[in-house]
Amino acid sequence: MFDTIIIGNGPAGISAAIYLKRFNYNPLVIAKDNGALGKSSYIDNYYGIPHIKGTDLVDAGIAQAKSLGIEVLEEEVISIDYGAKGYTVNTKENHYDGLTVFLATGKARNSLILKGLNEYEGKGVSYCAICDGFFFRNKKLAVIGEGDFMQNELETLLKFTKDITVFTNGQTTNSDYENIVTDKLVEIIGDNEHVTAIKTDKNEYDVDGIFIAYGSANAVSFAKHMGLVTDSQNNLIVKDFQTNIKGIFAGGDVIGGLLQVSKAVSDGANAAIEIKKYLTSLSKATK
Ligand SMILES: Cc1cc2nc3c(=O)[nH]c(=O)nc-3n(C[C@H](O)[C@H](O)[C@H](O)COP(=O)(O)OP(=O)(O)OC[C@H]3O[C@@H](n4cnc5c(N)ncnc54)[C@H](O)[C@@H]3O)c2cc1C
Repeated sequence: MFDTIIIGNGPAGISAAIYLKRFNYNPLVIAKDNGALGKSSYIDNYYGIPHIKGTDLVDAGIAQAKSLGIEVLEEEVISIDYGAKGYTVNTKENHYDGLTVFLATGKARNSLILKGLNEYEGKGVSYCAICDGFFFRNKKLAVIGEGDFMQNELETLLKFTKDITVFTNGQTTNSDYENIVTDKLVEIIGDNEHVTAIKTDKNEYDVDGIFIAYGSANAVSFAKHMGLVTDSQNNLIVKDFQTNIKGIFAGGDVIGGLLQVSKAVSDGANAAIEIKKYLTSLSKATK
């Protein structure tokens, strides 16, 4: 059991990990890639470092964390579940238990832009197989996605119905599932009440429900899955870095505001202080 599972190895995640470790807690960092800094070329406006490549800054942060004995894993988090004591963070291969979770997953973008998507959310369009799969027992379903995240949602849904078509929206997939359509998606169709079909550039398919698992899981999918509150820009809403769910904290670009390294580092440090207060209250409560 870790004190805190930190999702993200960017400035917010690593900063929180360093502070928590120095408060004598045992954080675990899990990240799938180098986040926003992996996409930036040079950073020229961070205090004390006049000019540095984005990837070098990430590598330096990870090296600093590891030098303190913090475990930093490279895995994609697919979902977070409530555990008996805290939370279970699931990757494709592993499950990690933590008393708290710090979401430092960077700016969340709703990567799927599709006509009808927002209109039918909650009217047959779902972002959470484990939450809503039960309502679609023996129904005809579409799952939109292509990677490990899709595969995980698909496997959950196959327990409820065998009539599922995966739509990759033109993306390639390694999945060996037998019923996959790779056409580009055009539109989600329905009557006023509910989804009825999904239209591609080649065909139209009748469906009773559509599950979205496109790209990799991000704050939007974690939020939809767990009931975390976001604003209209997909930023997680926090108070003192705590989301609306006790024990789940967030900071850095994922909560919006100034999307810069300096603010992400500051969020990580301040969130660590709030997590420390929370862990202290937990240990007092169990005494
Ligand atoms: C092109 C570009 C140029 C920029 N230039 C500057 C600049 O000059 N100066 C400046 O201050 N800022 C700049 N920024 C912004 C800066 O990079 C971000 O503000 C900062 O990196 C945010 O830190 P973060 O820790 O919140 O998120 P990120 O650095 O984005 O880190 C997010 C982390 O979450 C992980 N993650 C997300 N989802 C999952 C999942 N499902 N499973 C596992 N891990 C996951 C990612 O792998 C990553 O490790 C730039 C950004 C871009 C894109």
